[in-house]
Amino acid sequence: MRQPQIIDRSRDQAFMQMALDLAAQGAALGEVPVGAVLVQHGEVIGRGFNCPISGSDPSAHAEMVAIRAAAQAASNYRLPGSTLYVTLEPCSMCAGLIVHSRIARVVYGALEPKAGVVQSQGQFFTQGFLNHRVLFEGGVLAEACGSILSEFFKARRARS
Ligand SMILES: [Zn+2]
Repeated sequence: MRQPQIIDRSRDQAFMQMALDLAAQGAALGEVPVGAVLVQHGEVIGRGFNCPISGSDPSAHAEMVAIRAAAQAASNYRLPGSTLYVTLEPCSMCAGLIVHSRIARVVYGALEPKAGVVQSQGQFFTQGFLNHRVLFEGGVLAEACGSILSEFFKARRARS
């Protein structure tokens, strides 16, 4: 059974807004706008936006960038008690990394119907083989997180 946990909604929204601001930075570089922040002990210790094109790095998803930065900042390959805020439902690569990082909770904004594995394409974090349980919650600032993506794709279509 999951431990009940006190969730501070306005705090979640404030951190998600930071992730959204990072997503906008990515969009300005022509990257699909997804942003993430990693919070531990109430402090942001990692930030990232999706940047596989500019970094020539297929693993440079927002979550990956934020988690790498946070682990470096914490000088720890595990991030216990931390919360990851990401504007889009994580993919299978990032969900795996979240478990490896021992992140306690993941909060995401918009659904990713094609590649999201938290609720859209299966429920990764509830798989029995995992040795670490991650709490997860979607739908925080979902509309803003989704519209920055749809606006980006609309503008890109208009240009081509
Ligand atoms: Zn990913």
